[in-house]
Amino acid sequence: MPKTITTAQDIATLGTILGVWAHPDDESFVAAGILATAARNGQTVVCATATEGEAGIQDITKWPAETLGATRVAELRAALAVLGVEQHVWLGYPDGGCAEISQAKAVAGIRSLLRRFQPDTVITFGPDGLTGHPDHCAVSRWATLAAGSVRPRPRLFYAVHTPEQHEHFKPADARLNIFFNIDQPPLRAAENCVIAYELPRDIMALKHQAFKVMPSQTQKLLRVLTPRAFYRAFGAEYFVEYNPQEDEPMTDSDTMKHQPESYWKGKLTPEQYHIMREKGTEVPWTGIYVDNHASGMYRCAACGQELFSSETKFDSGSGWPSFYDVAATGRVELHEDSSAGLQRTEVTCANCGAHLGHVFPDGPADKTGQRYCINSAALDFKAAK
Ligand SMILES: [Zn+2]
Ligand SMILES: [Zn+2]
Repeated sequence: MPKTITTAQDIATLGTILGVWAHPDDESFVAAGILATAARNGQTVVCATATEGEAGIQDITKWPAETLGATRVAELRAALAVLGVEQHVWLGYPDGGCAEISQAKAVAGIRSLLRRFQPDTVITFGPDGLTGHPDHCAVSRWATLAAGSVRPRPRLFYAVHTPEQHEHFKPADARLNIFFNIDQPPLRAAENCVIAYELPRDIMALKHQAFKVMPSQTQKLLRVLTPRAFYRAFGAEYFVEYNPQEDEPMTDSDTMKHQPESYWKGKLTPEQYHIMREKGTEVPWTGIYVDNHASGMYRCAACGQELFSSETKFDSGSGWPSFYDVAATGRVELHEDSSAGLQRTEVTCANCGAHLGHVFPDGPADKTGQRYCINSAALDFKAAK
């Protein structure tokens, strides 16, 4: 277990920090204290924000939708000035649409930031997105893939909450639905966090000030939380460190698509190799997932990318696992395929290029009308916890 980071001096050991966020208040919610402390220490601190937060309307009479993005751009600038963060990059993606962005492109964008700023440390959300927001989940994935693809690899930290801290959010969450996609966010005990930073009083004052200069994003919250509850909910910042050895590395698309065949021969079983690299097809009714009705996520057996959710799986009677949709836009690529004397549409993994199966326009009419007919051998099922 690495040394726990609990003080301003410990924060200095993080070196140059790049924060990767989805919305122009995320940095202040989860890391204002760390960022302000690092800036005060004289460390280089950079924040990247994927969207202008233009979709998160809180009070339409005060902050109309048409100008919300511009309002929040100005608010973030003000908050970063309070925190002493001098460098900021907008990624220019649509609020609420990050999960639909081409993952390869988004990862390449983050990678170019890593090359430009050479951070020692990257801080972002965990795969759960902390609040469950799909934009948070997406930026976490991008940062993780990009950080894993550069050398030297920066340290990578994911924001978490402790059970005690979460207790103090509950009144606000009940009113504002902050944890909107998640009933119980993943909580970590403070002793299991690598960063467990209780903000000194002066830093806490800066954090509070940063919230105040972002009224279109925080006014409701600040009204709901008493100053005491605010302190308890936001007075400490917790992060766990991502460890690619333990936490299943997933390599970025650029690297994966250029792997030599020897890599795949070593990684895949002969059956998987035949299907995924030589575009083979498994014998119907023989695959292990044809009759799998458990809920969970089907990942690419070659690279680990999440491809299909059990929620879209249906019994097609074809003998192959069938899905009416992909887990998110951009996860697969489609190619016209005229092999075997048939006109078909081939489905490949967008991350690694592996052949998965074909898609046919005879899926459930009340859904998408599509039938993704996928080889079990190309999939790796992870049951929902
Ligand atoms: Zn956010
Ligand atoms: Zn793949």
